Amino acid sequence: MISIFEIFKIGVGPSSSHTVGPMKAAYEFIKSIEDNGFKNSYDKIEVNLYGSLGFTGLGHMSDKAVVLGLSGFHPETIDMNNSSKTLKNCLDSNTLIILDKKINFNIKKNIIFNKKFSTVSSHSNTMKFSLFKNRKKILEEIYFSIGGGFIIGQSKTKKLKKDIIFPYPFDSASKLLEQCKKSKLNIWQLVLKNEALSMDRNMVHKKIEDIWNTMNDCIERGISTKGYLSGELKVKRRARRLYMSLKKKEVPEPLDSIEWVNIFAMAVNEENASGGKVVTAPTNGAAGIIPAVCKYYMMFIPNSNKEGLYRFFLTAGAIGILYKLNASISGADVGCQGEVGVACSMAAAGLVAALNGKNREIENAAEIGMEHNLGLTCDPVMGLVQIPCIERNAMGAVKAINAAKIAMRGKGDHKVSLDQVIETMKQTGKDMQTIYKETSEGGLAVNVVEC
Ligand code: SF4
Repeated sequence: MISIFEIFKIGVGPSSSHTVGPMKAAYEFIKSIEDNGFKNSYDKIEVNLYGSLGFTGLGHMSDKAVVLGLSGFHPETIDMNNSSKTLKNCLDSNTLIILDKKINFNIKKNIIFNKKFSTVSSHSNTMKFSLFKNRKKILEEIYFSIGGGFIIGQSKTKKLKKDIIFPYPFDSASKLLEQCKKSKLNIWQLVLKNEALSMDRNMVHKKIEDIWNTMNDCIERGISTKGYLSGELKVKRRARRLYMSLKKKEVPEPLDSIEWVNIFAMAVNEENASGGKVVTAPTNGAAGIIPAVCKYYMMFIPNSNKEGLYRFFLTAGAIGILYKLNASISGADVGCQGEVGVACSMAAAGLVAALNGKNREIENAAEIGMEHNLGLTCDPVMGLVQIPCIERNAMGAVKAINAAKIAMRGKGDHKVSLDQVIETMKQTGKDMQTIYKETSEGGLAVNVVEC
């Protein structure tokens, strides 16, 4: 079992698997240098990024993330001003300060993007960190970025996180519903009891508020920033323009709320594409969906309140855990159905909970949210998390609201279960060709030609 706070993590854009994961791996590697007693006895570090990281890592700023991780920055605590200075210094001087020691480090030479899968492992996001002294390798660590900012070391025994034993463990939707029935709890109440094992209940609520405030700040930054997104595609930011035009509208229309949802989702994903501070939910590429649906709840639902927000995040987090345990939340593993599809499913469930829906309705909403994202491929143009990712978040957020509405109008006697759709997503991801799994070798990525 994992915590909902491993599904929702404050981090930086543009990608959880290609930016957050490599930064964390580099951060772990410097700890390994210290633990192995090599702090003062090396003269070179080399980093090899394989598979999907090799294909699209440059567009996802994986190299910059590695530099920051080696310099001691962690995605959850990063100071954006200091990190920019560190990066600039490395690019200007070809040096890095690692554990108080200055070494030569040329980002183009010391970080190697390999457009092939590693011989070490066929995992799509493999990272090899090597330490040298007088050209002799003295330490090597392999990490895998497995989606949503999670990383694991090569050796299974060397897991980077300790397991927590919750009072109400569940590894499938049917078990979750069964546990709720037995204990007469709503899903959010059960998840709160699980989370309260490792921290005070007030702390759980405080952490949810921090997550929501970070998401809301991100929406605000997104709708107040003009200009172009980073990268060679030269994509113009649209959230601010859409916001200004909707605000000026004199005659309201029935579907205005949908337009607001589009703006909120796009604002977050434009911030993410620019390397800004976002909440991984459950990934960075899909980071706009949950904030947009939450903001919709806060802005358009009468009597919406903090309690509703708690119910939203506790429930959406439980659904994210089910995907993480039983399928994947990585575009490089199962395509975009594992990112936008999962976020849509989580948001649909969260909204039903915020609206005080029943457990069966929550399960149904989560199922609908994924069912209509099955087969969604990952084909970011030029390896940038911009096209189709930004608009896709707007589509995913609207779909999540619709899924919640369909589920709450139903009678709970639906034919497809959440467990079945999660298994279907996993199998579809397995059958999907590699070119559609964050390699930018297929789909829109090859049909949208750079002018
Ligand atoms: S297409 Fe989907 S999975 Fe791929 S980078 Fe974009 S948001 Fe992530």
